[in-house]
Amino acid sequence: MDKKIFLCSICNINSGTCNEDCKFCSQSVRYKADIERYKQKPIERILEEAIAARDNGALGFCLVTADKGLTEKTLKFVCDVAKAVIEVAPELRLIACNGTATLEQLLVLKEAGIKAYNHNLETSEAFYPQICTTHPWSERYETCQNVNNAGMVLISGGIFGLGETQEDRVSMLASLNSLNPTSVPVNFYHHNEALELQPNPLTIDEALELIKLTRNTLPEAQRIMVAGGRELMFGARQEEIFAYGANSIVIGNYLTTAGRVMSKDLEMLASLQLDVAKKVK
Ligand code: SF4
Repeated sequence: MDKKIFLCSICNINSGTCNEDCKFCSQSVRYKADIERYKQKPIERILEEAIAARDNGALGFCLVTADKGLTEKTLKFVCDVAKAVIEVAPELRLIACNGTATLEQLLVLKEAGIKAYNHNLETSEAFYPQICTTHPWSERYETCQNVNNAGMVLISGGIFGLGETQEDRVSMLASLNSLNPTSVPVNFYHHNEALELQPNPLTIDEALELIKLTRNTLPEAQRIMVAGGRELMFGARQEEIFAYGANSIVIGNYLTTAGRVMSKDLEMLASLQLDVAKKVK
């Protein structure tokens, strides 16, 4: 495992327009959560965010769209954005996160300069139908296989605190391990009152143990990345995540919720004497 901490920033280039019914997701139009919704973020704003991410030490910059998968229009938009970001911040490693994707679509993204694709399994195959009824878990798994077949870097993880059992968590992590992801995002459910799911029941100690379980179940993964829900889940104890196996975090804002200012995370890493990764292996 790389001891240096990989920082990643996510950019919601399209927000809150998804017709799927994932019960944890405030971006579904079904739940009417009070979030910002737009079809395409203006390119100037995306470039400002990319530059800010780079200047705060991020290596990864992830272009996220809220939809089940890629339409022709979305694919073009993501490629156009990718090319524009490469112009202004070539140091960033571009990641796309655009839902289910075919091999052909992934090859188009790769051609546009996107190195990695993020698609999470979210939870176990058995529990998934209780979380989403509009598409099957198998499509998620297949997209991850497509990423591997496209020769792109696979980023795949899940979300804890949805009401799943420990057996579900173990099952999801085993499924992830079978896909050999380079990076494993670990998210913790951030409750929104518009969603019907109950608030995340995990304690901080349980959540720390889940990071450790993820690290141990995926020994070949280069990075265990604590992503959405970090501040809410761990509060004042978030610096402990590194001792449990995390070596990557998302900095800045999340998709629909605010993160803390990036400089706070840099201060935390400095106080722990943890170096920020300057290049991707
Ligand atoms: S497919 Fe993605 S964006 Fe759409 S509701 Fe599910 S998690 Fe949210």
